[in-house]
Amino acid sequence: MFWAGGEPRETVRHVKSLGVSCGQLGLPGDMDLAQAAAQAWKTALAEERFTLVTVFSAYRGESYADIPTVQKTVGFIPRDTRAEREARTIEASNFTAALGVASLATHIGFVPHDRQDPEYQAVRDMVRRVCDHCVARGQTFALETGQEPAATLGQFIADVDRPNLRINFDPANMILYGTGDPIEALEMVKSQVISVHCKDGDWPAGGAGALGLERPLGQGAVGMERFIAKLKQIGYTNALTIEREAHGEEQRRDILAAIELLRRLR
Ligand code: MG
Repeated sequence: MFWAGGEPRETVRHVKSLGVSCGQLGLPGDMDLAQAAAQAWKTALAEERFTLVTVFSAYRGESYADIPTVQKTVGFIPRDTRAEREARTIEASNFTAALGVASLATHIGFVPHDRQDPEYQAVRDMVRRVCDHCVARGQTFALETGQEPAATLGQFIADVDRPNLRINFDPANMILYGTGDPIEALEMVKSQVISVHCKDGDWPAGGAGALGLERPLGQGAVGMERFIAKLKQIGYTNALTIEREAHGEEQRRDILAAIELLRRLR
């Protein structure tokens, strides 16, 4: 999982230097998604023979500092930015289509639990509109897991009721947000999973509202062996995308170790 924003070819070469040939591209919220940018990415990916499996849409003003901040700033849930973010998601879908990629994904934020809540229904309707835009471009639209229990996400997906709505399953998020055992969650939503993040982390140790700590793959509470075994059991054959939120040398070292671990386990 890597981010656009820099020079496309240089970015792709940097990712390839880790020894991988496919990945997911995140679009920063302030990135220009005009046709010229899409063209530059398309050319770089083709010349470097690099396969994008998913494009991730992020939004201006998001912060993952702690749980209350995530609730206030992330995804489709905050009411004040909803319309602007819907327009941005449509742009991201068009950008994704220009790249010839068939999967768009995002964190929509904390889905409310109450199905009668007008906010729940407004977000449900927004996801329907995004799905309908995506389906006309041959795309699935995937929701990242973790900010709500799997049962809540499963109910929301059933309520949206669109055939191209899927899940990007991130086992670490279930732990970081304290929303449930990731392997049990994967069993519950397995039929919707189109892509996964291989990420690890520890359960929250701080007070109310604190997030758990993201950790190098294999060193957190997910249990990579059981995660990969579960993916095999449910018949998952798509990409294993490593996500590591550290930076610089630390990130590079941890990703190289993660690749080795996954080669052993897959
Ligand atoms: Mg993730």
